[in-house]
Amino acid sequence: MQTHLLGFSRMGKQRELKRALEQYWKGDIEGDALLATARELRIRHWTLQRDAGIELLPVGDFSFYDHILDMTAALGAVPERYGTAGEAVDLDAYFHMARGGQGVPAMEMSKWFDTNYHYIVPELAPDQRFHVDADRLLAQIEEAGELGAPLKAVLPGPVTYCVLAKSTTPDFNRFELLPVILQAYEELLAQLGERCELIQLDEPVLAQDLPAEVKGAFKTAYASLLKAASPAKVMLATYFGSIAHNLGELNGLSFDALHVDLVRAPEQLDAVLKALPEQARLSLGVVDGRNIWRVDAGKALDLIQHARNAVGMDRLMLAPSCSLLHVPVDLEDEIALSETIKRWMAFGVQKCREVAMLAATVQGTQGAQGVDVADWLEENRAAWTSRRSDETLHRKDVRSRIDALTPTMYARPVPYAERSLEQRERLGLPLLPTTTIGSFPQTAEIRATRRDYKRGDLDMEKYTERMRDCIRDVVSRQEELGLDVLVHGEPERNDMVEYFGEQLDGFCFTQNGWVQSYGSRCVKPPVIYGDVARAKPMTVAWSKFAQSLTDKPMKGMLTGPVTILCWSFVRDDQPRSETCRQIALAIRDEVADLEQAGLPIIQVDEPALREGAPLRESAWDEYFRWAVDCFRLAANGAAPETQVHTHMCYCDFNDIIEHIAAMDADVISLEASRSRMELLEAFRLFNYPNEVGPGIYDIHSPRVPSVDEMADLLRRAARVLPVERLWANPDCGLKTRGWEETTASLRNMVEAARIVRAEL
Ligand code: GLN
Ligand code: ZN
Repeated sequence: MQTHLLGFSRMGKQRELKRALEQYWKGDIEGDALLATARELRIRHWTLQRDAGIELLPVGDFSFYDHILDMTAALGAVPERYGTAGEAVDLDAYFHMARGGQGVPAMEMSKWFDTNYHYIVPELAPDQRFHVDADRLLAQIEEAGELGAPLKAVLPGPVTYCVLAKSTTPDFNRFELLPVILQAYEELLAQLGERCELIQLDEPVLAQDLPAEVKGAFKTAYASLLKAASPAKVMLATYFGSIAHNLGELNGLSFDALHVDLVRAPEQLDAVLKALPEQARLSLGVVDGRNIWRVDAGKALDLIQHARNAVGMDRLMLAPSCSLLHVPVDLEDEIALSETIKRWMAFGVQKCREVAMLAATVQGTQGAQGVDVADWLEENRAAWTSRRSDETLHRKDVRSRIDALTPTMYARPVPYAERSLEQRERLGLPLLPTTTIGSFPQTAEIRATRRDYKRGDLDMEKYTERMRDCIRDVVSRQEELGLDVLVHGEPERNDMVEYFGEQLDGFCFTQNGWVQSYGSRCVKPPVIYGDVARAKPMTVAWSKFAQSLTDKPMKGMLTGPVTILCWSFVRDDQPRSETCRQIALAIRDEVADLEQAGLPIIQVDEPALREGAPLRESAWDEYFRWAVDCFRLAANGAAPETQVHTHMCYCDFNDIIEHIAAMDADVISLEASRSRMELLEAFRLFNYPNEVGPGIYDIHSPRVPSVDEMADLLRRAARVLPVERLWANPDCGLKTRGWEETTASLRNMVEAARIVRAEL
């Protein structure tokens, strides 16, 4: 039962790759130094994997930016605008595609399935040129060869590549290029096939609903690829969900191995076993590659035994469920976590060891690194017993509140039409009221203040005074600009999820638990390990202070339960929906306290609502039901005269507008400037009943939008939705912007609203 990995983290424990990349981009180091760091990291990671007991090492999972971009480079599928189409892609050409430059925009970025990793979207044109280049992979195969272990080349599969790509023009169907792409793949595989024993082609799209254009594509594609790769064998790798609904697509193909994700979808095992080709091996993904919890050995062994009974041990392989790209590198370095909680966890290196120990258990062989199998099993059981019986995971006070929830707690006491009158009277706002999304520029000074306080170099009193200074400053600037609804600016928040996680029971934080988000950017998600509850108010003092400074209405700012859930590592011992409901109750308490403190408006941000949706649309209704319920539970306890806002930062609402409407926020602010208000069409068609604030300027760029262009966007919006239900605001928060462009942009925004108001 061979052990292997689908891939590993690229960054290094100390984010060495991030540092080297950023130095290289700045011109502080030469290309050679960057290549040397990369090589050092690859060797180090392979050595770690091998020492942990992984037999078959992945090659090609390393990337300077993104593995889909690497595939684009290996195929030489460079978009024309970079001026090097049809040529081999060197390091600078590669970064040019990733990051843009010299007036040429970067390629687009998109979320990798339901993870927080982003890939670079391939662009396919009708006359797309290719230039196959296997050199990078061959060099890495040679590098790994020095370790003497068997190797497996890892590449995105052609169908997934094509599905994830976009067509450069709307009337061009990129799937027409599939035969040409396949030829390029064949050329590549022919070169790799001589040099490694197995080639892994990742086809995670099999866990989704396949677009009609690629139905049947697997059969033709893989028949020729298998030949091209020979003498190497081919593994088809799937993850992030069940592929049971797509097994027919693989019918009749004689691939050599199939990997399935049995953490996300253990229920697919029987169907997969039945459909497995006669000679093929099955790789069981039984260790969670998406989360930081220790494997439950008992559960994993049951699955392995079940598969073994069906096909025999020799045809099985063992691996984490997906690439370990999505978890941090090494738990050993975490010195600040409580020993109790640390014992429940496993990061990348520990997960490699788990795979090896499970294999040793089943085979009755010696465990990796001299650890006795019986001892390991015993420790695994003890850790799980400690976790399952820990009181913080089953708090009576939290559980009984959840049990006592009633339907009325999810809904506002009176319908929007009625409460909007009360709100109008209380707030006295003009038509097209102006506001912002919450954060204002986070200057170096603000960040230093927070850091000093965290380190203990600044006492609470001084810290509070400095933060109050920031709030005073932000409030007076907003008054001076003439904004209608003010915010306190969020200077006390480093991150919209971390800020709340740090104050809620049931959360803990790693010191070094970084995972790649895109390029050199990494995030360090909070960990939800136990029942979530609010110990005391989290934002009230700041918001109340801000309101005391002005007669204008102040918005209290909160992060919604779904977003807190989606941007954390979540406990795996209960459904996500249950954890989310606990978070919702904690936020509900905060809403009540803000209301008590006199805040007339409360905003509950849910930018992650959509990304939390499952991969298959058939599961969407169930997800949106509980997700929207959680938002309602959090926000809708507010009294009729309190105005509830929410905010989201994406612009495709067509297929989820009914769920957005079900949230019943009085006002929703959205990112809309780049789509030039097109998204409002979905709101119009649905007869969306409440108020909408479509963003009228793009905060992702320092450019100051003119009064005219913003007025024009407002007029467009007013043609689509009733003007009494429109707001004027930017696309998103302003924390990444500087003061100069922020002030100029907001001044123009207020002026634009004034002009359009006067035209009515
Ligand atoms: N209130 C948050 C801010 O303004 C919202 C951020 C977001 O939507 N991602 O920063
Ligand atoms: Zn936003």
